This record gives sequence, C-alpha cells and structure tokens, in this order.
Amino acid sequence: MQFLQREKPVLLVDTHSHLYDIPDMETVLAEAERRGIIVLGVGEEKVSNQKILEISRKFPGLVYPAIGLHPFLLSKLEAEEEIAWLKEHIESVAALGEIGLDYKGEVEPEKQKEVFKRLLSLAGEYHKPVIIHSRRAARDCVELVKGMGVEKAVFHWFSGSPSLVGDIVSAGGYLSVNPAIGYSHGYKRVIERAPLERLILETDSPVPYKGKPTTPLEVMLSLQMLSELKGIPEEDIACITTENFFSLFAQVS
Ligand SMILES: [Zn+2]
Repeated sequence: MQFLQREKPVLLVDTHSHLYDIPDMETVLAEAERRGIIVLGVGEEKVSNQKILEISRKFPGLVYPAIGLHPFLLSKLEAEEEIAWLKEHIESVAALGEIGLDYKGEVEPEKQKEVFKRLLSLAGEYHKPVIIHSRRAARDCVELVKGMGVEKAVFHWFSGSPSLVGDIVSAGGYLSVNPAIGYSHGYKRVIERAPLERLILETDSPVPYKGKPTTPLEVMLSLQMLSELKGIPEEDIACITTENFFSLFAQVS
C-alpha cells in the first residue's frame, strides 16, 4: 500500500463506503480527488468484493479496497466458497471487511460466530486490519476480536454500550464516525467517550442521511459533527483522523 506516493496531500479519508452502490460514482470520485478525500471501499460478498477490487484498480491512490463477508448475508451464501475467495485475494487489499456479527439477522449466532472466528484468524495470519459490523452483538464482537490475535480493528458505526469503549481501545481497536452521531443517541455517547487518537471518519455511503443518499463527499459532514461534539477545530480533527487512518492501515501490511 503506497499511500504516501500521492502527489496531492490527503486531507480526509472516508474509511467506509459501498462505492459500487453509489450513482454517478465516477463524478463523485473526481470531486473527492479535487477536495483531497481518499476512500476505503468495503465489500460484503464475492460480487461486491470483486467490484471494489475493480474500482480500486481504476482509481489508484484514490480508492483502497477492503473485502469481506457480511454476517447478514450468511443465510444466502456458501460460507466456504466465500472464505476461499477471500483467502485468494487478501494479500492485495488494505483490510478485511466488512465482517462481524448481526444478531438482528436470521442466521444463528453460533453459525455467525464460527464464520467470524475464521475470518478473524485469516486477518491475523495475513496481518490485515479488520472492519467490523456489529448489531446487537457488541460484547461478543469485542470478546472475539480480543481473543483471536487480530492486530488492528475498526468497530464501524459502533452503537453498543459506551462501557465497551475501554475494551475496544485496549484491544487496539478504533471507532469510525459517520453523520448518524447527529441522530443516534447511543452512537453519539460511544464517540463522546472514545479518545480522538482512536477515531477515524466514514460515511457508510450510500446509507441516507436526512432522507438523502450519501456519498464519500459527506465525510465533510462527519468531520463537522465530530468537531462540534469534541469541541475541537475541524482542521485538527481532519489532521488527527487522517493520521490515525495511516497508522491503522499503512503500517500493518
Ligand atoms: Zn457498511
């Protein structure tokens, strides 16, 4: 990962975008490039993973790929096949994600945990960070990440109990911030408690904000909201979260 070979400075990083679902993606990416925003694109299964790889090849230095297996999709997919595919491609990506546990979904928690553990150990074996989706499964996610030898983990849009923030941080974890801190009280409390040196920005685009689908450009909104929440100027937040991103993703592989 040669992040530092870019000609223009990176000002902001959207660390979580489902780029393949964004209409007029190329125009959005051109504008992102102009504003100094780079993007970590995340996949959910083989088809979207493949798309993220293609997009990152087409926009080197602007889009970096993460490939994953979303727990919500396990009922529809052949886990063995997906894991074999991930193993084949993991060396060329920035991270494994998104992966995790989703107890709101229809897949048995035990089955989910079994797959999640295998993915965590795969990430450990290849020294890759993981990007974690957790819904109604916060404690199990934190425990498994702590126990499986993963070096770096991002707890994406984490709105579990704020009392778990200390565990996440001591396990080497980071938390990502998106505009939902503006309407989700639980998420806001988590981010309030998290230290700035463990925060990065994201959008989870195209997930809508105020009824409108987002794009990686809305990372500016994440920046603005985090600045307000922490009472720290936007310039400083941009600098710190971008540095956090590089220390999290560039030095691991
Ligand atoms: Zn996502």
